[in-house]
Amino acid sequence: MSIGLYVHIPFCIKKCLYCDFPSVAGGEELYAAYTAALCREIAGKGGLLSAGAVDTVYIGGGTPTVLPADCLAAIGRCLRASFTVTEDAEFTVESNPGTLDGEKLAALRAIGVNRVSLGVQAFDDAVLAAAGRIHTAAQALEAVAAVRAAGFGRVSVDLMYGLPGQTAASFRAGLERAAALPVGHISVYGLKVEEGTPFAGLAAAGRLALPDEDEEEAMYDLATSWLPARGFARYEISNYARPGDECRHNLKYWRYEPYIGVGAAAHSFWQEERLANTADVRDYIGRVTAGETPVASCERPDGAVAMAEYVFLALRTAAGVSYADFAASFGRGFPERYGAIAAELSRRGLVAAGQDYLRLTAKGQKYGNIVFAAFLPG
Ligand code: SF4
Repeated sequence: MSIGLYVHIPFCIKKCLYCDFPSVAGGEELYAAYTAALCREIAGKGGLLSAGAVDTVYIGGGTPTVLPADCLAAIGRCLRASFTVTEDAEFTVESNPGTLDGEKLAALRAIGVNRVSLGVQAFDDAVLAAAGRIHTAAQALEAVAAVRAAGFGRVSVDLMYGLPGQTAASFRAGLERAAALPVGHISVYGLKVEEGTPFAGLAAAGRLALPDEDEEEAMYDLATSWLPARGFARYEISNYARPGDECRHNLKYWRYEPYIGVGAAAHSFWQEERLANTADVRDYIGRVTAGETPVASCERPDGAVAMAEYVFLALRTAAGVSYADFAASFGRGFPERYGAIAAELSRRGLVAAGQDYLRLTAKGQKYGNIVFAAFLPG
């Protein structure tokens, strides 16, 4: 069996104003202790896979590349000492422009990283500044060039739409710049104003000027039509790739395959259980250093929830739900379990059924939440 391994690095230079991801700004004084705790957790988890191998590794965050080169190297060494990582494993590191240098790039190459995912978000300096990003568009271009020059064959960039000050025209210019770069993968996310973020506070005070609904929809339509026309196929609701450049690690999540997560706030899906590590960085370090488990919650979804999760996740992908795979996973026919719901969604133009699959239509991709809600157990 091959599985995916996720490693969480919960540090950023500064919090972006929209961000509710589990990361803290600063925290340099914790880097060494965190790296040591992470290595300890990795070493302890290695035994889980006595007869298997890791074929995708994803170091995400936060901003993993805020860590100094020696910490990145130590994490990589520990991973390889504790797990059998296949020769052709996909090994991704997330990064942000402004946090990479030659020494870090060399350390990442040395531990076998072969894919870098850069958080670019926009190519408009005013939009970046309004979102609280730490970098400029020029630094994003420099980062892509540096990553490619360092020999990383696979590069992905993240973009966002619906940001304050953004227009359909500036978003389109950003798409054009991204697609012209030597990258094989582009992720495009719409801004969501999450509770507890500075943006939520500004919105509550009436001081967050977002693009109106029509402008935001125009940006969504641009991404979904323009990128595929330039050779970036939409293989998941928010992800576009040139052929063969799909993110194999993330496909495991959408295909309901097991994965192991390590680090503060990391999640695992292992032996039908969903486990979450404590999100508090100091608590994580303290627990692991004391030899205690960092797992803060563990649940085993019941049959109805597991089937619904499986369907939501599969529908996010262009391939959709395969009836054969569903039957192999749950011992039940998809049409028998969900036929009435699928028929109603199909009548509304949100899904399309084939002989052996159910997929979202273009309308269903746009209004995915309506579709996903329909599958929730009553
Ligand atoms: S860099 Fe990413 S993880 Fe860090 S604060 Fe910004 S959005 Fe959040």
